Amino acid sequence: MCHWRRVRNTYSQCGHVFDLADEMIRCDDRYCKFSSSHPTNCVPPSCTTTCWQYRQFPQQFNRFIDSVCPGCTQQGQGR
Ligand SMILES: [Zn+2]
Ligand SMILES: [Zn+2]
Ligand SMILES: [Zn+2]
Repeated sequence: MCHWRRVRNTYSQCGHVFDLADEMIRCDDRYCKFSSSHPTNCVPPSCTTTCWQYRQFPQQFNRFIDSVCPGCTQQGQGR
């Protein structure tokens, strides 16, 4: 089913943390209300019993990047 993905970049050399914009991950599940494969004639009340009515809780991805963040890179180059 569809869910949100939340990515967090951690720059290990300066310790700064950046949260990226939430991203919608789409599925093609026939039993997901948000899917493109979901039949248009599937409507409540039957839809509420057979299909997902809400998106899954966001998945959190933590990315560790072995460098300084773009902001700190700019500061270092500015002098
Ligand atoms: Zn879905
Ligand atoms: Zn449905
Ligand atoms: Zn930084």
